[in-house]
Amino acid sequence: MAQEVLVMGPIPAAQLEQLEQNYRIHKLWQAENPEAKLNEVRNNITGMVSTAFFGVTAKIIRALPNLEIISHFGVGYDSVDVKVAKEQGIIVTNTPDVLTDDTADIGIALTLAVFRRTVEGDIYVRSGQWIKKGPMPLGRSLRGKTMGIVGLGRIGQAIAKRAEAFGLNIIYHGPRDKKVSYPFVASLEEMAAKSDILMVACPYSADTHHLVDAKVLKALGRDGVLVNIARGKIVDEKALIDALEAGLIAGAGLDVFEKEPDVPSALCRLDNVVLQPHVGSATHEPRGAMAQLVVDNLLLYFEKAEVLTPV
Ligand code: NAP
Repeated sequence: MAQEVLVMGPIPAAQLEQLEQNYRIHKLWQAENPEAKLNEVRNNITGMVSTAFFGVTAKIIRALPNLEIISHFGVGYDSVDVKVAKEQGIIVTNTPDVLTDDTADIGIALTLAVFRRTVEGDIYVRSGQWIKKGPMPLGRSLRGKTMGIVGLGRIGQAIAKRAEAFGLNIIYHGPRDKKVSYPFVASLEEMAAKSDILMVACPYSADTHHLVDAKVLKALGRDGVLVNIARGKIVDEKALIDALEAGLIAGAGLDVFEKEPDVPSALCRLDNVVLQPHVGSATHEPRGAMAQLVVDNLLLYFEKAEVLTPV
């Protein structure tokens, strides 16, 4: 009998089709009454697919007595209760590497957009202000500035490589000195004080909840720009809005927010902020490769009890 796989949220169609060819799948996000659906299939489910927006709580894990594997679509797996999954002997996989470059590109795009005011520039042209008011106010150059990276992992390193090409100096903060060519700064506040751009690229966890708080933002200073391509809850959003409104920092580039897709109107009102709807990996190529990893992890697990990218 085919394995039964509970798919919590949408993944690209080609890979959903592959799942349908190999397993009996249940699309929970499409169910009229998800709770009733979960109750109906709970004893049959051996595999699961989760996403950043359609995660897996401890309650759901405990409701599925025969669950063996959660194949997560995304590198960040903070929407899955991995601790409880592991306690129950359930394997969790994610999709690293294939989205690194595209997410790093968004980090750089946001940095450039804030410094060179490209979104404001677009509005300036379209709204006719160029004709009415003449040249737009000047932006700021990136060359010679310092980028402090919070979390020099796969994406952090890919951002550093790109930033170097723009003439930026790199420093980084994380749980340990990785003995790389960039200087390590043990204190985040100290690193923020040395940075023109504070780039957040670490995972979200209890340890990183509101890691970037009012103190760190104050240290970043009046000319500093915060860029977050990691997870919204790593930054204290209220403190960020206060800092932006009070001019305590110069601007922000944000791909992620505390309560997506609910972005505070205070952020939307600010000219010195560039906002993106969580699109770090949102291009056809990595999304396809991520979904293929989701499928391949399930296939390999159910065939050989092995996985490609365990968490
Ligand atoms: P990764 O390779 O695991 O890198 C994470 C880095 O963060 C590691 O260098 C780690 O340090 C560091 N870190 C861990 N705890 C930290 C802490 N408390 N303070 C500072 N740094 C800490 O992960 P990745 O592939 O680069 O992805 C990073 C995150 O980006 C993901 O978890 C995900 O949430 C987010 N992301 C967002 C998007 C998007 O669409 N915006 C797309 C992809 C990923 P060590 O090396 O010392 O362990």
